[in-house]
Amino acid sequence: MSTALDLAPLTEWGLPSVARPIVIAGPCSAETEEQVLTTARGLQRLGISIYRAGIWKPRTRPGSFEGVGSVGLRWLQRVRAETGMLTAIEVANGKHVYEALRARIDILWVGARTTVNPFAIQELADVLSGVDVPVLVKNPVNPDVELWVGAIERLNKAGIRRIAALHRGFSGLEKSPLRNEPQWQIPIEVRRRFPTLPMFCDPSHISGRRDLVADIAQRAINLDYHGLMIETHCRPEEALSDAAQQVTPEQLGVILGRLVAREADGTDSDYQRRLSELREEIDRLDGDVMSVLARRMEVVEQIGRIKRENNITVLQTSRWDQIVRRVHLRGTEYGFSPEFVDTVFKAIHQESINKQQRILDGLA
Ligand code: PEP
Ligand code: MN
Repeated sequence: MSTALDLAPLTEWGLPSVARPIVIAGPCSAETEEQVLTTARGLQRLGISIYRAGIWKPRTRPGSFEGVGSVGLRWLQRVRAETGMLTAIEVANGKHVYEALRARIDILWVGARTTVNPFAIQELADVLSGVDVPVLVKNPVNPDVELWVGAIERLNKAGIRRIAALHRGFSGLEKSPLRNEPQWQIPIEVRRRFPTLPMFCDPSHISGRRDLVADIAQRAINLDYHGLMIETHCRPEEALSDAAQQVTPEQLGVILGRLVAREADGTDSDYQRRLSELREEIDRLDGDVMSVLARRMEVVEQIGRIKRENNITVLQTSRWDQIVRRVHLRGTEYGFSPEFVDTVFKAIHQESINKQQRILDGLA
């Protein structure tokens, strides 16, 4: 169970506008003062009001560019003074927070490699205790809702009320054109638990490729996200980190210009009526799905009893294999993806095995 969060609404974040999408843009890493300022001027021309840049970069392997360090904070101060944009950086430990606050950085974010580590999150929570700064919490690298929620709860307990989730995708084993799988159902679950928690999307780290950024950004808008963080560099191909996914300020302008805004909920009465009719139908169908599953489970139970009487193992691999083949064939006819069929039937099979185990053990 999640505890309720004590959240300040976005209108209390001190942002120039909370019109959706709220856009945070800027380079993956601050590299030189010139790069930071040239990029910022390009973004200012687009009307972007929050500037991001990584100062300390968590890299997978040593020897990659690990950020310019504290000197970059002065460049961000110049961005703020010259353009009036708010500034945002990533913090991963107490020293980062201390330096960021001393440099009057406006917004902090916690990176995916930090969210996985409750020790690191607790350290951040301890130093942030009593500090009134907005914090965006990226999802952990691995698809674990609890780690993400836990990090948000820890920071909120420390008194951070201006807090938002930032969805940047999850590393996976499957081959995919995307750098990090979005697994949209995970941020959806976070929002189900905390309906007033603002949700941002980072399409740059999800896609890993600049030509896919726009599509992911639109999907986030379709899912009613509050904002976007998009890596932007004045000369992306020369970037010292994440060169393939950064866009120029001009390209960002095109991406944002093409985004189709969606209403969180329509007020039009025809729309409302059609939607509620369709939702009633979904509720009925969900009921049907459950009752078919319950009937299937009764048959599973009868089979379990026969197996017990005849002292037969719960699992017959060849039979399971037969089921898998059949449902995949049927699934294709219905236009289901193989992953979907796999997930559904593995879950059904697991529940059936659990039931038969209990019968064999004489517990059911
Ligand atoms: C970043 O925003 O540049 C970054 C390092 O992101 P992530 O923590 O999502 O990998
Ligand atoms: Mn990056």
